[in-house]
Amino acid sequence: MGTVINIVIAAGVFYFIMKTGLKLLGGFSQPMAEPPPPGEMRKVKLNYRCDICGSEARMTLALDEQPPAPRHCLEDMILITPVE
Ligand SMILES: [Zn+2]
Repeated sequence: MGTVINIVIAAGVFYFIMKTGLKLLGGFSQPMAEPPPPGEMRKVKLNYRCDICGSEARMTLALDEQPPAPRHCLEDMILITPVE
């Protein structure tokens, strides 16, 4: 009889650990920061150029009027839009 009780206890402990573990995993899988809603994007017209290969890119929507420069060739691109 002792063995049956041990199995029941072991099953209970296993269930508890699984539940706690899944809860922890669920917490980890949640994104660190919620992306802002699309309405908070600002319309911008910024041109960037990659100083290394010369590629140019235009940013039309950003979170900020002066967003951080995108990267190309592992380097920050240079803002070439004249600042008014
Ligand atoms: Zn590049």
